[in-house]
Amino acid sequence: MSRLVVVSNRVGIPDGNARAGGLEVAIRPALKKRGGIWFGWSGKVADGTPGPAKTVHQDKVDYVTVDLPQDDYDEFYNGFANRVLWPILHYRLDLAEFTRRDLSGYFRVNQFFVENLEKFLRPDDVIWVHDYHLMPLAQMLRERGHKNRLGFFLHIPCPPPEILTGLPNHERVVAGLCSYDLVGFQTENDANNFSRYLANEVGLKRAGDSSFHYEDRSVTVGIFPVGVETEAFSRMAARAVGSQFVNKVMASMSGRALIIGVDRLDYSKGIPERLNAFERFLANFADWRGLVTYLQITPRSRTDIREYADIGRLVGEAVGRINGTFGEASWTPLRYINKAHSRTALAGLYRSARVGLVTPLRDGMNLVAKEYIAAQDADDPGVLVLSRFAGAARECGAALLVNPYDSEGVAIAINRALGMPVEERRMRHQANFAMLVKNDLSQWAERFLGLLDGVSSTDPAAEMLDPPMRRIARQG
Ligand code: UDP
Repeated sequence: MSRLVVVSNRVGIPDGNARAGGLEVAIRPALKKRGGIWFGWSGKVADGTPGPAKTVHQDKVDYVTVDLPQDDYDEFYNGFANRVLWPILHYRLDLAEFTRRDLSGYFRVNQFFVENLEKFLRPDDVIWVHDYHLMPLAQMLRERGHKNRLGFFLHIPCPPPEILTGLPNHERVVAGLCSYDLVGFQTENDANNFSRYLANEVGLKRAGDSSFHYEDRSVTVGIFPVGVETEAFSRMAARAVGSQFVNKVMASMSGRALIIGVDRLDYSKGIPERLNAFERFLANFADWRGLVTYLQITPRSRTDIREYADIGRLVGEAVGRINGTFGEASWTPLRYINKAHSRTALAGLYRSARVGLVTPLRDGMNLVAKEYIAAQDADDPGVLVLSRFAGAARECGAALLVNPYDSEGVAIAINRALGMPVEERRMRHQANFAMLVKNDLSQWAERFLGLLDGVSSTDPAAEMLDPPMRRIARQG
């Protein structure tokens, strides 16, 4: 079996007591099984020129990290990745702040990654690159003569070509994905959007249902929805409801029904729209006043970026307005908290909450939605109110699906969730839970790697073409 080389912006270095995040939980077993390397940024900004890559070895895996100089961090990470690619891939062309300087920083850092990575590469390594920070990596490796099997997975949404082409230089950035053998997406919608981009904008000819001819190779497009460890998360939630922390929170509810929202403070999560919906709910369904508490846990993120400060201000104002308008001396309708919580604490809170409110304007998957379902007590489950624009909506169709832009519709859904009879709650939960067990995180990496092992990296049809014909095939 070939070695596996994982490349992602951040590396999940095992440090004994770390609470592993989703990517680590998914990737580490595959890395341990095959042996290999996990390569990426250390998360540190170097004073001056960064030193050589650092390696930590554990369980047949080398965790290799590099530091970035300040300019690279500003232009690559805060600049092109988070100010341009993040908004555009979340359908927000209006928020993108493109500069040529950041674009060249993006390519410079990708080149820096390639130069450091190739020192560790063997010809038969399978390379799996993650997310929007590192799209050009395959093209750069191919240009330097590497013939390895190369896969890419996009964790965030892929918008339609009409939006993708709004990205200046999309031909260099997005079309660079053609150099991978396999490009994976969270949902069918994302995969279809990318396929349409390849066919209509790059002019590639189809080589099969889900693959395209590209130069002397082919590129396959696949769908691999990221899951959670459903059964393990369920057990963790059942344990966590007995914890001191959860008991204290629930005691402070004084018997009121808990509605919970958990999101990073990010404009893609639809938090102001959700607060408007909660305000509508309190206005239109007055019987619930005094009987519910909405707890919104929202750790700050990307605080260096103006749009994130703006959304923070907007949310803070809405919270003040709602509590000021509807609150009583004995009741605060909304608790808004910027502190991050452990996944165990969240699991316990999810299980204690009658309603999970997950209403992003656009989300690649949204793991909070899946965790909320996994955490419920099957005999007396809470109800998930879920945006139809979250990737999770494809698998969790038994949730109450809503349009997050329709605050009245979301208010009606909250009311319906709170009043839903137990039989209907059980039925919906059972259907969602079964789907999550089927698409468990434990199978995700092997599904991707299984397909990557199987796809042919050279295109037999294209190999038969002479060079001018190849060019024509490429142009479509
Ligand atoms: N999370 C956490 N502590 C917090 C808030 C969130 O551990 O205080 C976790 C949450 O349980 C989930 C992840 O962060 O596993 C968020 O993933 P999601 O796909 O919902 O959103 P993202 O932040 O990746 O856009």
